Amino acid sequence: MASEQSAITRDTFDEVILPIYAPAEFIPVKGKGSRVWDQQGKEYVDFAGGIAVTALGHCHPALVGALKTQGETLWHTSNVFTNEPALRLARKIIDATFAERVVFMNSGTEANETAFKLARHYAVTRHSPYKTKIIAFHNAFHGRSLFTVSVGGQPKYSDGFGPKPADIVHVPFNDLHAVKAVIDDHTCAVVVEPIQGEGGVTAATPEFLTGLRELCDRHQALLVFDEVQCGMGRIGKLFSYMHYGVTPDILTSAKALGGGFPISAMLTTAQVAAAFHAGSHGSTYGGNPLACAVAGAAFDIINTPQVLSGVQAKRELFVEHLRQIDRQLDLFSDIRGMGLLIGAELKPQYRGRASGLLHAAAAEGVMVLNAGPDVMRFAPSLVVEEADIHAGMERFARAAARVVKG
Ligand SMILES: *Cc1c(COP(=O)(O)O)cnc(C)c1O
Repeated sequence: MASEQSAITRDTFDEVILPIYAPAEFIPVKGKGSRVWDQQGKEYVDFAGGIAVTALGHCHPALVGALKTQGETLWHTSNVFTNEPALRLARKIIDATFAERVVFMNSGTEANETAFKLARHYAVTRHSPYKTKIIAFHNAFHGRSLFTVSVGGQPKYSDGFGPKPADIVHVPFNDLHAVKAVIDDHTCAVVVEPIQGEGGVTAATPEFLTGLRELCDRHQALLVFDEVQCGMGRIGKLFSYMHYGVTPDILTSAKALGGGFPISAMLTTAQVAAAFHAGSHGSTYGGNPLACAVAGAAFDIINTPQVLSGVQAKRELFVEHLRQIDRQLDLFSDIRGMGLLIGAELKPQYRGRASGLLHAAAAEGVMVLNAGPDVMRFAPSLVVEEADIHAGMERFARAAARVVKG
C-alpha cells in the first residue's frame, strides 16, 4: 500500500493523463475544513475551494454522513426509475426558489447544455422555427461542450473544433445598448452569468440585469442565468438572482450544489418545462441517488441564515487583507466580486502574472485561483473560519511580496 502510493508522483500525470491541464507540482491527499495536506504532509489553507465547489469545506461531517448512509442504501438506478433523494432535493429547491420544475445533470456544462436546448426548443415549438438566436457575452464561461463553449464568450475555448452551432451572438457584458442593438423577435434566449467567474470575477450591474429582463419580455425571449459559480450561497444569498431581484426563466446550478460530489441542476417554470416531453433530453447519471443525497445534505446547511449571513463578514476580512497587501506592495488595480467570490486584478506592471502568483502562493501554503492572466480569484468555503482566513492571507501576502520583489 505504502509503496503503491509512493510510486504515484506528479510525473505520473504527464505519463497517463491527457495534457489538458497543468496541475501544481504537489498532489493533495487529504482535506478537512479549509485545510488540505499533500503527499509530503505539507499543509495548505484552501481558498480555491475546488473552484467554488467545496462550499462547506472538505469532508464536512453532514456530507460524509449522507454519502455513507446513501452509499450503503442505493447508489444508482438510471432515469428508467426515479428515486427518493432526487425527489426530495427537487422539492427543497422548488420550495426555496422561483422554480416549479427541476432537472438534475452531472456538471455545469450539462446543466447549461440542457438550458440552451430547452430555450431553443421552447421557442421553436411555441413561437417559430426561426426563433433560435442566443445572445451571450464576451468573456462569459458556460462549460466545455461544443454548444456551451460556443455560447461562452472566450474564443480560446471554442476555436479549432470545426463548425460551431449557429445563431449565437456575443456582445459586451454590462452593455445594455449592445444587447438592444442585436435582440429581436428571432431571439430565443439571453444567457448571462450574474457574476462572471472565469471571465475575471465581474458582477453585472443591477440596471443591466433589470434591462435584460425587460428586453427578454418585450421579445418573448427567455432569460437564462448561469449561476453555476455564483449560486448556492456564494454571494450570501441562495442564488444571486435573489440579490438582484431579477427572476430568470431558467437558472443553472452546479459547482457548490454537491459540495464536491458531481451534480448539477437546471431550474425553470412549469410553462417552460412543458416544452420538453419524455425523450426530449436525458442523462444516465443525472439525478443519481448518491449525488442527490449528498447535495440534499449540502443544501440543508447552505440554505440557512447562519451560513448565508456569515458570507459578507468573511468577505470583508478577505478584502481587508487584500487592501493591506495592496498598501504594502501596490499590486492591485481593483478588488471586486461579491460575497465569497473575490477578484483582485493585478496592476498593469504585473499583468499576465496571475498564475505565477498562484504557484508562489501554493509554495507558501495557500491554495488560490486565477481568473484569466490578470486576476487573482478567491472562492473559499462559505464556512471558512476566521483563523483560516488570517493564516491563509498571511501566507498569500508572503507570496505576493516574493512575486513583487521578483
Ligand atoms: C464552472 C462553470 C461552468 C462549467 O461547469 P462544469 O461542471 O465544469 O461543466 C459553467 N458555467 C459557469 C459560470 C462556471 O463557472
